Amino acid sequence: MSDGQSILLTGGSGYVGSHTYVALVQAGFKPYILDNFSNSKKNVVERLERITGLPVPWHEGDTRDVSLLQEIIVKNDIAAVMHFAGFKSVSESVANPLKYFDNNLAGMIGLFKAMENSACRTLVFSSSATVYGDPIEIPITEKSPKNFLNPYGYTKIVCEEMLASLSVSNTQWRNGVLRYFNPVGAHPSGLIGEDPSGPPNNLMPYLAQVAVGKLPILNIYGNDYPTPDGTGVRDYIHVQDLAEAHVAALKTLFKTGSGFTVNIGTGRGYSVMDVVYEFEIACGKSIPYQFVERRSGDIAVCYADATLAKNLLNWNAKLSLTDMCIDSWRWQSNDFS
Ligand code: NAD
Ligand code: UDP
Repeated sequence: MSDGQSILLTGGSGYVGSHTYVALVQAGFKPYILDNFSNSKKNVVERLERITGLPVPWHEGDTRDVSLLQEIIVKNDIAAVMHFAGFKSVSESVANPLKYFDNNLAGMIGLFKAMENSACRTLVFSSSATVYGDPIEIPITEKSPKNFLNPYGYTKIVCEEMLASLSVSNTQWRNGVLRYFNPVGAHPSGLIGEDPSGPPNNLMPYLAQVAVGKLPILNIYGNDYPTPDGTGVRDYIHVQDLAEAHVAALKTLFKTGSGFTVNIGTGRGYSVMDVVYEFEIACGKSIPYQFVERRSGDIAVCYADATLAKNLLNWNAKLSLTDMCIDSWRWQSNDFS
């Protein structure tokens, strides 16, 4: 259990933030949500109240609003911030890089200013395996070189570099950088999950929408990759495990006072076909699919070396691909979207 510290979750009503909210409550923290609801719905707050059985403190606002953030941090005696807020679509970032620079970079600078001004310098940041670009080693360790393939990946690298510079400027900054691999799945209650606006870009939500009949067919981008069945391989991680990784990261920052950068994955890769087969079992239907051209910018294989997270945070993923598909399906079939 924690000492009940108050934790600010920027983007806390989004996919990863909402699941982390529940995990923080269960671990004895007092999370507080700030979100501008640009990619989430306000009814997530009510569902979080149903899951936790407690009122959810939240505020509608933007991370670029420095004075608002500062006021929230001071008024609620915020001990640490988890920074989820940001845009995450690779294709949208290619089409509109300025939108990504503005939200992901200016948004983070706004948060930094508010934190610095209120002497709250403990931060957990949502980074991504995208910072490795086309990885030169598999499994990927944290020492692998960083490289970006699109503006979204660029923003994550710049955010990581800004965090490193802040720690040099003032040693009171304690930054935990979590490089997520492929978060999927949903809370076992079926009340919260991934709720993309518009057609999903990612495999699991697309697959789920095909299964429920919202979309006609799954396009599988390439079956000629150098992988056992020719389809792309990724390290899918259950969002519930990811939420627990945030709690572990926070506890480690409070305990050790030192920052870190860690991969958050299972350490295991599954192909697109593995996911399709497992999802078919979970939903009890066959999924219509067709092979199409490779998606531009896609890499063949990406999975983590998850050793450092185990050693440093005493955390490892526990849930299986079966759990991920069952929970995704439960959420999708509820159709709260
Ligand atoms: P999400 O879009 O579901 O959640 C992000 C939340 O932030 C949304 O509720 C949105 O309304 C809010 N938001 C966006 N810009 C904001 C701003 N300027 N001010 C206030 N609120 C703002 O995304 P997610 O999947 O929960 O991802 C959370 C973080 O994790 C993001 O930074 C993302 O880049 C990173 N990440 C996600 C994945 C993934 O596959 N889900 C993988 C790697 C990294
Ligand atoms: N993928 C696919 N069809 C889709 C979406 C994704 O075949 O509609 C494939 C994609 O080529 C990759 C894997 O599924 O091999 C995971 O893609 P996702 O976009 O979920 O994650 P990322 O590529 O960003 O790791």
